[in-house]
Amino acid sequence: MSLDGRYDESNVFALILQGKIPSTKLYEDEHTYAFLDIQPQSKGHALVISKWSKARNILEIEPEALCQVMASVRKVAGAIRAAVQPDGIHIAQFNGAPAGQTVFHLHVHIVPRWEGGPMGFSAHAQGDFADADALNALADEIRAHL
Ligand code: 5GP
Repeated sequence: MSLDGRYDESNVFALILQGKIPSTKLYEDEHTYAFLDIQPQSKGHALVISKWSKARNILEIEPEALCQVMASVRKVAGAIRAAVQPDGIHIAQFNGAPAGQTVFHLHVHIVPRWEGGPMGFSAHAQGDFADADALNALADEIRAHL
């Protein structure tokens, strides 16, 4: 998928918002939803999306929706920091398949990073914290800081 195209109402994040597939929720407000990535790049890898914008990428998103998403990114990043104590936090957002985008509902990644750890994005989950029980336990820890 390139930068141009139509919003697919059945993309995986639209289905999460509709409650049709499960997700490990961290935070939700009127406009945004934050949840743990199912294939985490590191412990605490989370995603934040708009609940109402049909933007596929940064070029399409309404400034208001972007502000709402980034305000939630800031909030959730703080809770993740408190919960998992990273040395750094990577905030990332990909636009178009050649840039690494695989889900075409705009989303912002929050990826905790540690000194000496991997910095890039891999096609596979990193570490042993991707199973459902581990994600749920981690979400409890992060939510306790919100
Ligand atoms: P992108 O490469 O499009 O920026 O990132 C999409 C992200 O969504 C990937 O990190 C991928 O692991 C995550 N993802 C894909 N499908 C699901 C899903 O069903 N649930 C969750 N929680 N994350 C997903």
